[in-house]
Amino acid sequence: MDGARLLGRLFGVRAEEVDPDGAGPARVPVPVEVVVVGGGIAGMSAAVVLAERGVRVTVLEGAPRLGGRLAARPETLPDGTPQLVDHGFHAFFRHYYNWRSILRRIDPALRFLRPVDGYPVLSADWPPEEFGRLPAAPPANLLALLVRSPSLRPRDLRAIDRRAALPLLAYDPDRTYRDHDGATARQLLDGLRLTDRARAMLFEVFAHSFFNHEADLSAAELIAAFHFYFLGNPEGLAFDAPDLDHDTAVWRPLATHVENLGAVVRTGDPAVEIRPGWQVRCASGRTHRSAFLVVAVDPPALRDLVAASPLLAATAPVLAGQVAGHGSGPPYAVARFWFGGDVAPGRAVFSGVSRQPTLDSITLYHRLERGARRWADRTGGSVVELHAYACPDLPAAVLADRMRRELAALWPETAGLPVVDLRTRVGARAPAFRPGAAATRPGVHTDADRLYLAGDGIRADLPSALMERAATTGITAANQILRRVGAGTEPLRSVPRRGLLAGRNRD
Ligand SMILES: Cc1cc2nc3c(=O)[nH]c(=O)nc-3n(C[C@H](O)[C@H](O)[C@H](O)COP(=O)(O)OP(=O)(O)OC[C@H]3O[C@@H](n4cnc5c(N)ncnc54)[C@H](O)[C@@H]3O)c2cc1C
Repeated sequence: MDGARLLGRLFGVRAEEVDPDGAGPARVPVPVEVVVVGGGIAGMSAAVVLAERGVRVTVLEGAPRLGGRLAARPETLPDGTPQLVDHGFHAFFRHYYNWRSILRRIDPALRFLRPVDGYPVLSADWPPEEFGRLPAAPPANLLALLVRSPSLRPRDLRAIDRRAALPLLAYDPDRTYRDHDGATARQLLDGLRLTDRARAMLFEVFAHSFFNHEADLSAAELIAAFHFYFLGNPEGLAFDAPDLDHDTAVWRPLATHVENLGAVVRTGDPAVEIRPGWQVRCASGRTHRSAFLVVAVDPPALRDLVAASPLLAATAPVLAGQVAGHGSGPPYAVARFWFGGDVAPGRAVFSGVSRQPTLDSITLYHRLERGARRWADRTGGSVVELHAYACPDLPAAVLADRMRRELAALWPETAGLPVVDLRTRVGARAPAFRPGAAATRPGVHTDADRLYLAGDGIRADLPSALMERAATTGITAANQILRRVGAGTEPLRSVPRRGLLAGRNRD
């Protein structure tokens, strides 16, 4: 263990085992049937845990392929090359304990994940800030950032309003939401009195990664995310990424895993109505019945499905009210370019981008994923993916063009690269985290008996976000069912549930 991790342990920054009451039988004592609606990370995490304990699981996925926002779809390039194109680059952080535990079912050593070196943040105005080379664990990572960051000079540090900064170090699952959910992330950052440069380079990129604008994002959610990724993270900000497309690396093996355990996975037939009982009617007209239901669809799909299910809404008014009030955040855009030439050799595989109007990140897929690398090796080209995490509602082609121009402002060598092919996508399926909304965020447990929710927009009892929130809520939903039928549950792991200074900041 390195010195930073050891110091972190002394401060109590270590993974915690929670929900360990798996003492019941390893298999359900009576036959149990569960329908899982939605085959993304949340739904498949629930399906894996249930199927492994002998539950008869049916997964209903509306799209032609599993994966949701982590899916990949087949495409053919103009030269005839087949490529599976991911929905977008994803960083698999090392403290995603529960998502990684699901993935270990298909690859026990997680060999398909490769470290992504470095994590620079780029700007047209200031030199890059490097997050990937900080010490692995808090508080050493914070101290190193404060000492080493070119964006923070001693006088900038002295100007920071320490009272306003304290909540960032004192995350508490109750107090943080009680005291800060009414404010916006923008107000929280304004209160820190950072220099414009420090704010842009250290905070704004981070805030954008949660698919919401600072002015619409709850300050409590930003504090929780800061705790989860930085100040409560025993593994550091380092992350890995699959060296294969997501369909080959994740979804086909996970489908095979649950099918080998007797589960049925049905794709391409969306659920259109839920009736108490539980019955799920699909677009094809087929109805699926089961004693328990896990609904693991994305936020706008959940809102639409509940709105189209009047009998469910009548049985579960709290659920219906909560779901209606929690929609999706602004659109995000992904543009993958196949260029007829390469970027400069020293460019990082993944870079965050600060203060460009549209562009938030750049990924060099040809230095990461095998299919893209093969194409680039054969043609001398490059495969570059650009993301905007919270953007205006414009056509995908317009956003791709804007991101490409902003890329050229940062990396001039890309301006003249010919575009061999381009795939673009705009989506608005990420959850909104509006100020004041935490108290009514739907949780896994609902007022609909034997119906559970899962997904990255669902309230979790553990610090988590994005992919890890999806997996954590999926496993939690499975555990609720296993407990009800008297079977052993799946252990969950978490970063520390409270911040470094939470104790000192108590009432
Ligand atoms: C461009 C991009 C980049 C990202 N980068 C990262 C990252 O670097 N790190 C990270 O942790 N997270 C990242 N995320 C977020 C991550 O993808 C999500 O948090 C996660 O995939 C959510 O999983 P989920 O299962 O909750 O929802 P989803 O993946 O949305 O799955 C829901 C599923 O339900 C299905 N469905 C919807 N309606 C119905 C219906 N009526 N009937 C049946 N099925 C239905 C959908 O088709 C979908 O498959 C990124 C997301 C995007 C878009």
